[in-house]
Formats: sequence, structure tokens, C-alpha cells
Amino acid sequence: MSFDDLGLSPELLRAVTDEGYTTPTPVQEQSIPIVLAGDDLMARAQTGTGKTAAFALPILQRLKAHANTSFSPARHPVRALIVTPTRELAVQVERSFRAYGRHLPLRIAVVYGGVPMPPQEKQLLGGIEILVATPGRLLDHAGSRTVNLGQVEVLVLDEADRMLDMGFIEDIRRIIALLPSKRQNLLFSATFDPEVRALAHSLLHDPRQVDVAPKVSAAESVEQVVYLVDADRKRDLLAHLVRSRDLRQVLVFTRTKHMAARLASWLDRVRVDATAIHGDRSQADREKALEQFKSGEVRVLVATDVAARGLDIEGLPQVVNFELPYHAQDYVHRIGRTGRAGMTGHAISLVSLDEEEQLRNVNKLLKRDLPIRQVRGFELDPRATAPARSGRGGSTAGSRSGTSRGRSSASRAPRTAAAR
Ligand code: AMP
Repeated sequence: MSFDDLGLSPELLRAVTDEGYTTPTPVQEQSIPIVLAGDDLMARAQTGTGKTAAFALPILQRLKAHANTSFSPARHPVRALIVTPTRELAVQVERSFRAYGRHLPLRIAVVYGGVPMPPQEKQLLGGIEILVATPGRLLDHAGSRTVNLGQVEVLVLDEADRMLDMGFIEDIRRIIALLPSKRQNLLFSATFDPEVRALAHSLLHDPRQVDVAPKVSAAESVEQVVYLVDADRKRDLLAHLVRSRDLRQVLVFTRTKHMAARLASWLDRVRVDATAIHGDRSQADREKALEQFKSGEVRVLVATDVAARGLDIEGLPQVVNFELPYHAQDYVHRIGRTGRAGMTGHAISLVSLDEEEQLRNVNKLLKRDLPIRQVRGFELDPRATAPARSGRGGSTAGSRSGTSRGRSSASRAPRTAAAR
């Protein structure tokens, strides 16, 4: 397929050629027709897949009819709004819009926090069709009425998973409340984990889905997330997740048989039906525990890596790593238990600060950084993170993934503030 086949206008085709692109990437090939048709879209695509052009090109095409050279600000209302988690991404997206829109008289602007408001205000008051913004600064401008979002036709949430990671959900909801209810919504995210799906569900109307996440192994078809939590709160968090999400058939992995037994009996005590399989139990006992689990009699099966091996427990909806394994390869084996044919499995890892090295090894093996989240009410104790940050064996939560995608509360607050 070529760009010509996608129904783009000559101005856009010229711009694409100027950029040196010859063929559309998979996310572009799949998304562009959907966006041109005016449908809502939920796309799983990481940075580097060409996702920016996948929404920028069809948006430019759709707004082409409004392009004009009038000096009147009223002739240039904001028609496309792109919300990004960071200023770096905002700048990059604006640059792409400028490059792809260079042969069209559409006005493009970017606003983000950490810089003075007046130049941005002047630009906004002059009128622009395409606005790229970080959430906090956008709300500041909306609050001081330098921007009116009442004529937005297309909303893009770029890197939605990262915005949720950074705690922008309330800001996003406030922004959405400023938009007309009839509009097109596009959501791009590197993952489709439950929080992203919940946001999509509340925001998108009958969305079409595009999924170009690289499927290099079984591990990649499983939605994976890390919940950062203090070690002594892990079991409470596990019980909370099972109850609040009504999880059934949860396979929980621990490193030791001692921990497996203790955890299962604690869960049972707090009325989350659980049983354990570990090497100390006879084969008959293990088979019985497995039967109870499969029949739904118990919701949680706690297992060690060794005990789980050789048992027929594939195709589960949910795997939880109560502790990360010592060997990263075991992580892949564990999460390989989830995901029924044609369905996405979910793998949650409860990770405490002392597991930095294990997480780093898992990320290295997967060749990507697992998204790091915290669950409200189970945030890390700041007193526990402080000494770690000051260099206790280099065990900083912020350095655990080595890139901006992996964050902890320790690094989140300043970043969130910076993006405003
Ligand atoms: P993105 O995933 O949007 O950040 O894009 C990643 C990089 O791919 C950017 O440097 C784009 O300029 C480039 N790119 C986007 N689309 C294409 C294409 N169809 N052919 C070649 N390069 C592209």
C-alpha cells in the first residue's frame, strides 16, 4: 500500500514525500482510513511506530476544508486538540503537524507549562486550528479564557497510558468537560491495560481498534503492569485487587513455598478463597488444589515456579506476581500461563523497592520497560522511598526502569508539575 491509496490530498502527499516517507507504517495504514471516516479510534502503538502521522495526516485532511488566510481570529477556532503527557512529546507532535501541514494554511500551536504564559496567550488569542497541549497548562489557559474549546471537532489523547501514570486523569476529565459532546475521539496508548480501557470506555463512542504492538513473543500479547507497593502492604493490595476488580481464577506466584503457604492461608482468613500448590504438598494434594481452582471453588491459586511447572494451568485470565522471580526467564514462563486463545491475558506484578534488580532484569529480557503504576490507597510510603533515593545501594525507584516510561512516585511529582 502507498500513501496515494489512503485518499490523502495532494498537499499532504507532497509533505509526506518531502519527509522522505515512501510507504505508510502499519499503524498509519490501519488508522488513517478510520480517522478519515470520522470514527472514534483506540490504537495501541508505541512511539517509533509512526503513530503521530497516523493521526496528524488524517486530521489535517479533515481540517483542510477550514483552511483560510483570514486575519480574523474568529475564523480560526481550535478544531483539533491533541493532549500529551509531557512537553517533549507536545513539541514533537507540533513539529510533525507543522511538517505534514506545511502546504496547508492551517494554524498550529503548542502550549505547555514551565514557561511564561503571555507569548502563548498572544498566539492563542490570534486564533489557531490545531492545538497541542499538556493538560495543566491547557486548563490554565482555559481558566483565563485565552482559549475556547467549544468548537473542537477532534480530540487526541496521545500516550494515554502515560498520562494515567502521571496522574492526569482528573485534568483530562476537566478538559473533556470543556469540549462539545459531538466530536471525534482518538486514543493512542502503548498498552491497553484496565485503566486505559476504563478511560477509553468512558470517552470513546463505539471505537474502532488498531493494535500494532510488536508481538515478539507470547509475553507481548499479555497486558502487563507493575504496581509499586511497600513489601508489607502487598498482601492487602492483592486482596484489594481481587475484591475490587472481582478477579476470578487468579494464579499468584511467590518465590518460596513458605510464602505460598502463608499467603494462601492469610487470603483464606480474610475471606478471599485461596489454596496453594508447592513442593511440600503431595502430588495428589496439588491435583486437588488445582481442581478446586479450575472449578471456581477457590479464586486464588498461590504457586511457586517449581510447583506450577508441569501442571496444566494455561489460558488463565489473570496472573499476579506477588514477588518477581529471581530469574527473569521465570517471569516469561509465569505470564505465559495467561491469555486464552484469542483473548488478552493480564499480568500484574506487585513490586517493592527491594526488587529493583529483578525488575531491571525482566525489562532487559522483554526489551521494554513495563509500565509502573501505583494503586490509590497503596502508594509507597514516602519515608521508605527517601532513604532509597539518597543512594541506599543505588536502589532508587526512579532508576528502576532506566527510562522515562518507568516512574515511581519519587519521580512522578516533579514531572507532573513540570508538564503543567
Ligand atoms: P512516531 O512513532 O510518530 O514518533 O514516529 C517515529 C518516526 O518515524 C518519526 O521520526 C517519523 O518521522 C518517522 N515516520 C513516520 N512515518 C513514517 C513513514 N511512513 N515512513 C518512514 N518514516 C516514518
